[in-house]
Amino acid sequence: MTIVDAHCHVGRGDALTGPWDVGRLDGYLRRADATGITRTVLFSVFHGDYLIANRAVARVVAGRPDRFIGFAFVHAARDAGRVAELVHESVNQLGFRGLKVHRHDAALTPEIAQVADRYGLPVLYDPMGQVATLELFAAEFPRVAFIVPHLGSFADDWAAQRVVIDLLTRLPNVYADTSGVRRFDLLVEAVQRAGPDKLIFGSDGPWLHPGLELAKIKALGLPPQDEQAILGGTLLTLLGPAISPRSAAGAERPAATARPGR
Ligand SMILES: [Zn+2]
Repeated sequence: MTIVDAHCHVGRGDALTGPWDVGRLDGYLRRADATGITRTVLFSVFHGDYLIANRAVARVVAGRPDRFIGFAFVHAARDAGRVAELVHESVNQLGFRGLKVHRHDAALTPEIAQVADRYGLPVLYDPMGQVATLELFAAEFPRVAFIVPHLGSFADDWAAQRVVIDLLTRLPNVYADTSGVRRFDLLVEAVQRAGPDKLIFGSDGPWLHPGLELAKIKALGLPPQDEQAILGGTLLTLLGPAISPRSAAGAERPAATARPGR
């Protein structure tokens, strides 16, 4: 059985302000292997230059391409004007298959959504509780899959998480990852109202234990096909087929269409 962890950080930031600036994989992999996670989406920690950080992540992914899937980190303000350039390299040379944007850097921009649309990439965007604008992005860019980590708030902002559940039910191209969500009934409600194909398992490794995060999904007690949708089925569909890096220099991936929800 394939179990994909959709959310794990790797690398070292150029500032050292807290554990979020250092992502080491040794402990993560030991824990993930022990719990049966077979593939992991990797992206950088916060960094002063994501061109450099993404290249470092790509080297890790290239070491185990059957185990890791790379996402490119994009800074919505600092990379403004060069998002297309950054993503072109990320896709065609580094083999990345999605984008990661964090409001801690800056709020998501139409420039990023446009580039994601052109390359057919899902966008994992952490809005840090500011979830209302997701509705605008989802409507303006219907072919882009927006994955909202932590149901919208790592900090347990209950009101924001409830809004995200509502967005999951209404907007076919909005998804949420389960990492760090502590109030279990929110996950139960999200599955009941939005359907299992709108939730995506993620751990926020290496800082959160992937086995603990996986246990939350198992504890939902879903039928096997619904559980498998959360544990990787939906994500792999959103990623579309992989292209081999460098072989497609100059070419762009065809735009994938976000899977309709229910
Ligand atoms: Zn994270």
